[in-house]
Amino acid sequence: MAEGEPLAYVNGTFLPLSEAKVSILDRGFQFADGVYEVIPVYAGSPFRLGAHIRRLARSLGDIGMDLPMATAAFAEAVYELIKRNEGGDCQAYIQVTRGEAPRNHSFPEAVHPTVVMTCTPVTPVPGEWVRDGVAAISVEDIRWARCDIKAISLLPNVMMRQKAAEQGAYEAIWMHEGRAVEGAASNLFAVFDGEARTPPDGPRVLPGITRDVVLELAADEALPVRTGEITADELAAAEEVWVTSSTKEILPVTRLDQQPVGSGRPGPLFRTVLDAYRARIQAIREHGEEGPS
Ligand code: PMP
Repeated sequence: MAEGEPLAYVNGTFLPLSEAKVSILDRGFQFADGVYEVIPVYAGSPFRLGAHIRRLARSLGDIGMDLPMATAAFAEAVYELIKRNEGGDCQAYIQVTRGEAPRNHSFPEAVHPTVVMTCTPVTPVPGEWVRDGVAAISVEDIRWARCDIKAISLLPNVMMRQKAAEQGAYEAIWMHEGRAVEGAASNLFAVFDGEARTPPDGPRVLPGITRDVVLELAADEALPVRTGEITADELAAAEEVWVTSSTKEILPVTRLDQQPVGSGRPGPLFRTVLDAYRARIQAIREHGEEGPS
């Protein structure tokens, strides 16, 4: 084991990342038959762990599987993983697949799920991304009709993130039947007449946990943020656009398809929401997670 090598969790055992292995017959490898979660960890405290485990259980239920351990045992394993990796700021990754079985599309009769977890240091979001904003491109939504399941089959997302990168952009925003739905790895908010809108839950949108935090903060602080559809035409004329995700929190998109968004600078509502979000994170750093959430 290399000095300082992270420890991974594989089916109940903690071991050095380089020794953590699963079979090539694992259905995750063969069919992308599995689901995942990414949990941000601040000063050793996983943020919204309860919500992540609930979403994992929901994704599993939707693919005909159960959470492989009771919720409390799952949470315990995540805490143990973080502790063994010396906590701090990191991101916990959980992947559950249907397990190892001879290759055959339909579900095997007797199979044990594979549960893998890793904990890796986070790369801080570059200050200029928040100060100046990032670029995004809009792309046709070539994904399947169950994007609410956090499935490990991310090929369309990978391809469009690459397309964005090749155009010097950070994110690709999916367009489906004339509507903007979400980013390749983020949820979408756009501001019109001073009010932010994020597309509602549905089969084309992942119910993002960061997005829920933003909606909650907005409700607590009476900020003008709500759920609502965003048409492609509206998006092109938005005053502000933001994307949210567990690892990048909230980022302002200031260029969309090579055109400036609004003034071309991060907008005032973005600043207000980001300040509220950061205050919440600071509280987590100082006091840990605020109860079961
Ligand atoms: N939508 C997609 C497609 C994503 O991959 C992600 C990030 N995993 C999100 C939204 C944001 O979700 P969360 O805030 O829970 O990280």
